[in-house]
Amino acid sequence: MVQSFYESVLEQIDATAERISLDPGIHKMLRQPERELTVSIPIEKDSGEIEVYTGYRVQHNSARGPCKGGIRYHPDTNLDEVRALATLMSLKCAVANVPYGGAKGGITCAPSKLSKKELQRLTKRYAAMILPIIGPRRDIPAPDVNTNAETMGWFMDAVSMEQGKTVLDIVTGKPLELGGSLGRREATGRGVMLTAIELLKKLKKDPKKTTVAVQGFGNVGSIGAELLVEQGCTINAISDVSGGLCNPDGLDIPDIIKHINSKPRAPLLKDYKRKKGDETIGNEELLELDVDVLVPAALENQIHSDNADNIKAGIIVEGANGPVTKKGDEILAERGTYVIPDILANSGGVVVSYFEWVQGIQSFFWGVNEVNENLKNIMLKGFDDVWNISKEKKVTLRDAAFILSIKKIAKAVELRGIFP
Ligand code: GLU
Repeated sequence: MVQSFYESVLEQIDATAERISLDPGIHKMLRQPERELTVSIPIEKDSGEIEVYTGYRVQHNSARGPCKGGIRYHPDTNLDEVRALATLMSLKCAVANVPYGGAKGGITCAPSKLSKKELQRLTKRYAAMILPIIGPRRDIPAPDVNTNAETMGWFMDAVSMEQGKTVLDIVTGKPLELGGSLGRREATGRGVMLTAIELLKKLKKDPKKTTVAVQGFGNVGSIGAELLVEQGCTINAISDVSGGLCNPDGLDIPDIIKHINSKPRAPLLKDYKRKKGDETIGNEELLELDVDVLVPAALENQIHSDNADNIKAGIIVEGANGPVTKKGDEILAERGTYVIPDILANSGGVVVSYFEWVQGIQSFFWGVNEVNENLKNIMLKGFDDVWNISKEKKVTLRDAAFILSIKKIAKAVELRGIFP
């Protein structure tokens, strides 16, 4: 049985608490989100009928600053998942050292079955329903699985209409025309590339001789793959919900990206006109492919106790949140696989979200070089901090990232003192 995502995150927190002799009170605080809201979201479908969806917003911990985290639209989204994701956001913001706590939101829905107009109404009603607990200094949402800049534009508009003024800093990941930041769309994939290349450097491996498989070809997977190709890596396999593609000589990633960008609703990989040598590949086969680097950039719980032993890649870079369960992680650690954990590898998104928030507050917008340079500095500092702890304490990179972030949150809680 694959463990639940939240169970897996809690087990990792418990293991870290024991390792660093964390104050038992603070340990209890980290095991329970500060605030959880479940909302019902009625919308009028294009047919005129009313449909009711369920949405969530969970704020895990605000000791280090306002809560921050994305919103996902997915048929399997539930409170347990959103709790796990909110918890990871607190840790992610602490690793990157951006002044935020963690939150996450989601709506249980199948976005591919909704029209654009329906999605817009769903987003605006959800924004209105969670408005009592969010705010630019309280909790700032952003995109996640199946949401994007357009969704954030709708969200920002709903809050602005409620408040009678434009509120740019209520949400990040907005369109450039509506106070978004240059480099935000690419930021998570860029962070995946930066951390992967940094690990290759540490292991004295040449990116030009490095083969990669990427599970998930959404925002994170596609941009991560494109930037890794720019660094000289060969992408041997990719996949999306419709299936996978592989080529032992390397896939033509820019051409595949052109295909998925050819229509507003990204066409699927199964409809891509294959190049010479391209073959199809199944999900399990992709995960177990003999490549140097595996980038799971889809959803949680992909690598677990039943398949971790079959993973051949020596390096895993977690583009997704929680793609490896705690039990799967233990197996990989025993086998000596390097795993760059989600709370480090995919933190590029929230880092540039932080830049966007700062730019919105100052109404002063940066150039793309400034964004990318600052992102690189923060990512490499996070990487070094994690790497050094892992060497010093002889623990995995995930254990090191958990030690680093939990200590930072615990210090913030201590310094503030418990209210009242
Ligand atoms: N959803 C992204 C994540 O999981 C970004 C969150 C944000 O930018 O606030 O890190």
